[in-house]
Parts: sequence; structure tokens; C-alpha cells
Amino acid sequence: MNKVFLKKNPMDISDYIASEIRDYQEFRADTEENPIDDPALIVDYLTLIVYYLVKCRPRSDHDIDSICKLMGASYFEEGRRTPFWAIISEVSTTYSNDPVFADGADLENEITNEDIDQCFRFIEYEVLFIDDEEERDSHLGMISVCKVKYNHSAQPPRLSKDRLNIGKGRDLINRRQFEKFLEAMTPESIKAYLDRFVVGQDETKKILSTAVYNHYLRLANPDAKLIKTNILMVGPTGSGKTEMIRRISNLVNVPVVVTDFSGIVATPWKGRNKEEALTTLYERAGRDIEMAQSGIVFCDEFDKIVPSKRYSRGGDINDELQGQLLGMLEGTELDVPVGGSSVIRMDTTNILFVCAGAFEGLDKIVEKDIGRSGIGFGSDIKKTEPFQLTRENLDQKHLIKYGMKPELAGRLHAVGVLNKLTREQLKCILTESEDNVIKRYENEFREEEDVKLTFTDEALDVIIEKVLSMDIGARGLNSVIHDILKVPLFEVPSDRDIREVTVTGAAARGEDKPEYSY
Ligand code: ADP
Repeated sequence: MNKVFLKKNPMDISDYIASEIRDYQEFRADTEENPIDDPALIVDYLTLIVYYLVKCRPRSDHDIDSICKLMGASYFEEGRRTPFWAIISEVSTTYSNDPVFADGADLENEITNEDIDQCFRFIEYEVLFIDDEEERDSHLGMISVCKVKYNHSAQPPRLSKDRLNIGKGRDLINRRQFEKFLEAMTPESIKAYLDRFVVGQDETKKILSTAVYNHYLRLANPDAKLIKTNILMVGPTGSGKTEMIRRISNLVNVPVVVTDFSGIVATPWKGRNKEEALTTLYERAGRDIEMAQSGIVFCDEFDKIVPSKRYSRGGDINDELQGQLLGMLEGTELDVPVGGSSVIRMDTTNILFVCAGAFEGLDKIVEKDIGRSGIGFGSDIKKTEPFQLTRENLDQKHLIKYGMKPELAGRLHAVGVLNKLTREQLKCILTESEDNVIKRYENEFREEEDVKLTFTDEALDVIIEKVLSMDIGARGLNSVIHDILKVPLFEVPSDRDIREVTVTGAAARGEDKPEYSY
């Protein structure tokens, strides 16, 4: 079907669709499903839609999703007019000499709801042969959404490879994806993958890897009713919390959404609401509800929903919000806005929530508590070394004291504490980890300008010191380096003779500009 869009000649499009429909008819002749009643009508209708896309829309719209959107656009309730009709009439005015659109005018009173359903089924059949699983799933998701939009009433029965006896059904296709992940991965191999990109933070990487693995176990075994583990990550800014989930999102085949909870409020009309994350999940799942309900949501700045003592005036509202989040994390059905005034009902039972935040001041609560109760460190050590929040000394009661509702704290089963990155770890992020910051800049210079970029050891040390003094973790690396390189980034492109740029200690300190060699 994708090939359709490579054919600019309308007659080719028509022929192609006709031959595909013939195959489909033959295939369907062996099944109980009704074959297409009037293939010629369907060919004409689809040809028009495809032709409209090819002729009038940007290349990015030349895909199956756009066909479905057009077919699923708003529709006269009991009427016989096609949703596409408004578009055809508009375009036929613009392209009045175009025979394809002129011929299409005859279809106005012929296409029925049933024909459109047949179109959807035909396209679904085509889509099932797409090899790329992600692409196929995204299209199937879009088709179901458009079908639902099109049929105001209940969702029509979905055609599946199963029902066509040519393979697996939609649920099974999803299930197979989950099983495939489990066949290929273990908590250890997930962690090994994270190790390639995320420096340090071993405990949290283990917790996250296990939770992701268990998430898949639950998805692949829906009848086993396995328990879900929601996670809380506590760690200073720039320590790798978001980086971990970003890497996980490249590894998994379920949708992952990173959402900022700092502006979330309990009362939807007063600001951003918690459903926003679910809307994004749904979009990212290619509007496939089942896939969306199997996704992962990363709730960044989760500490901002807990009013610290300083902000406790908003206590009531916040209490309400925490109550709502508790429901979402535990598993509830929510009406999620999906564009315009439409909503869909989404079940959060199988969504994995990873909550994260800096929880500033939490260490003080723990330190005070431990000091008083005498657990953990002795008072001698406390005096000489700064207190370190760890997974061992952090307890649920501390989160409650911080302002988290006991029920909510209780739903965050696994807590990972991330450390402030050390000098050595920052250096590793800068120069050693896969996809490290220096390598990224080196590549940029090499690919864009064919110039070799080097940093002296002294320069690297200066950079690390600068980053440490900023106290924003590895987040500072990029900005510091960008600042050092801003002059060459501006000058090098206009001097074709430069072969090498060297960042010296003086350049890193800002006393000089990086050296150029010709
Ligand atoms: P936060 O902990 O505030 O979510 P991020 O994970 O977004 O911070 O980190 C900010 C930047 O610093 C990212 O671009 C990431 O590349 C880098 N970074 C932070 N921590 C690490 C780490 N432990 N390993 C590798 N890179 C890291």
C-alpha cells in the first residue's frame, strides 16, 4: 500500500488499488467475512483519496494514516455522503479539469457507511503485511481510532490476521512483541545496556531494569495478575534520572512518555492536568489504546506535587492531587482527552510509572531522624563527613514527613537514590561513556566542517572543575563546552583551511580562544 504513494500518475494508483483489491477478494472468498460488495466503487473512492493526498498534500502526508484520517473524518449521521466528499468538492473546484476529480463527483450518493467499513478492512488487510512491526502497529492503531471516530456508535469488530487465518490477531501481535522482548532481555542485560550510557547510579539502574523486565512479564502474562512495581527515583539535578528513562525508551517496544509534573494541578481547568501524560502516551502508541495502556510514564519533578513546608498553603489542593495520582498509579479508568472534544477511556492498571525528583531537603529530614534515633551512622562520622542520603537510610516515613500522603508513598514500591556525580564520574561522562559529550562535539566538527577537534588534558580538568562548581551535575557539561566552543563554532565554517581546533587549558578557562591549525 505504501507503494501507492510513489506513483504520481493517477491511473497507476487506480490500477494498483484495483489489483490489490482483487487479491483481497480472492483471499476473502475463503473466509466467512463478506468480500467487498462493489469493488469498483471502493477502487474509485480510494483512488480519489490517494490522489488527493498525492496531489494536494505535502509528502509527509502521503501515508496510510492520512488515508484513514480522511476516511474517518466527521460524517453525516445517517447520510450517504462520504466524509471525504467535502474535500473532493473543494479540490474539484481547484482542479476542475482533472478527470479523476470530475469522475469522483458521481460517487457522491453512492458510497455508504458499509462501503467505508469495507475500505477500512481492506486497508487493515494491507497493513498486516508491513514487515516493520512498529510501523504496522502504528498504522493499525490509527485505523482503529479512525474507525471508532467514523462509527459514532460502538467500535466495529476489528479484522485481524487471526480472523483471516493468516497469522496472529492484534492482541497476539502485541503479546508477541512483549514475549520477544522477554526472550531477548533479562534485568541484567537491560542494566548492561544502561551501563553503556549512564555512568554510576548502579542501584537505581538495577531497580529500573528489574521493573522494566517485570513490566514486560506482566504484559506477556495478563492472566497471571502479576504485581506492578512503580518506582521512585530520588536524586539531585543532572544525576541521570531522565537519561536512564531516555535510554530505556530506545530499548523497549512500548511507548514511553517523559512528563514534567511541576505544573500539574488537581483541578483540570486551572492548569495542566495529570491526564496530559496519558494523552501523549496514546499519541505515541500510534493511537492504539492497548499499546498505550502498556506504556511507561516518567513523572519528572514528582517532588513538586508535594508542598514543602514553605509552600504548604496550597495543602488542600495538593492533597486532592496526590489522591488522584494515587488512583492513577494504582490503576484506574480515566477519561483522557484525545483532541478536540473527544475523550477515550484509559485503564492505567498496566502502565508503569517511574516517578523522579530532587526532593530537596529530604536528606535533612533523614539526617535529623537518624541522628535522633541513633540508627545508622555514629555521630562522630556525622561531624566529619557530609550526610549522604542512601537507599538504606531512606524510609517511607521520611517521604511522608516530606509531605507525601502515606498511601502514595506506599504505592511507590521501589525507591532508588541517585548520588551526586563525582569528579571521576563526570570525567567518564565527558570522555568515556558511549555517546559521550566530547565525542558528540568531535563528530559535529568532523562531519560538518571536516575539522579535527581535540581537548588537552588540562582543558578537560578545567571543564570538570567548572561543572562541579555549577552544582547542576552533568547537566553543566554541555553548557560549559558549548561556551568554550562558541568562537570556533562561529568562525570555523567560514575558514575552509582550518584542519584542527585544539582546546587548551587557557581556552577552557576563557583566557584565550581555542587554537587553530592549518
Ligand atoms: P536529571 O537527573 O536531572 O533528570 P538528566 O538525566 O536529564 O538529569 O541529565 C542531564 C544531562 O546530563 C543529560 O544530558 C545526560 O546526558 C547527562 N547525565 C546526567 N547524569 C548522567 C549519568 N549518570 N551518566 C551519563 N550522563 C549523565
